Amino acid sequence: MKTKERVASALSRSGRGPADAVLVAVSKNRTVEEIRQAVVSGISELGENRVQEASEKFGVLPDLRWHLVGHLQTNKAKEAVRIFDLIHSVDSLHLALELDKQALRINKVQDILLEVNVSGEAAKFGIKPGECLDLAVRIAAMKNLRLLGLMTVAPLCDDPEASRPVFKGLRELRDALNSSGKLSGELVHLSMGMTGDFEVAIEEGSTLVRIGRAIFEG
Ligand SMILES: *Cc1c(COP(=O)(O)O)cnc(C)c1O
Repeated sequence: MKTKERVASALSRSGRGPADAVLVAVSKNRTVEEIRQAVVSGISELGENRVQEASEKFGVLPDLRWHLVGHLQTNKAKEAVRIFDLIHSVDSLHLALELDKQALRINKVQDILLEVNVSGEAAKFGIKPGECLDLAVRIAAMKNLRLLGLMTVAPLCDDPEASRPVFKGLRELRDALNSSGKLSGELVHLSMGMTGDFEVAIEEGSTLVRIGRAIFEG
């Protein structure tokens, strides 16, 4: 089954609507030609890990929607704000302040997600779940950022069920933030699920699945 159909059937199995999760095709290390082929098959949202690589592709394909799913260094914030419709990987106050400043400079309201290290692995990027509310409250006061939700990367594992507690944890965290009454807007998005575990992620409420291999090697 094609990836889009697998996403659709996971949504319907979970009692969710067909538009309740967006398929982001992660095109890191793929050529512009490969991306064009994916676009012909119906892909319109692309995810990249590195600003420099995304910048080159954006130059050729500016009309697609571009997502930054990899770690962002503060010194790349200016270019990131120029290119990306949604930055999934905000993981510090320092970075948020710089993105707000760069977005103001080009008169943009930049959509962002907070990357959360739900699994607690030492090697992972992302803030601790317990730090989320404080950072979200600080961001709510920044006029050129709009916080739309949370993102996480589950530990690498052959068993998709192993990711379920991580995805459930991110959903519960988002719901708790929304119930806190301390944020200005609602956090609607959960960016979670990759090639190995996106169906479980959709069952747990994912609204943005980030899929590379299943699309480009499927
Ligand atoms: C590479 C990558 C993906 C896609 O991974 P696949 O296993 O190829 O689907 C998703 N999210 C992030 C953050 C990535 O770096």
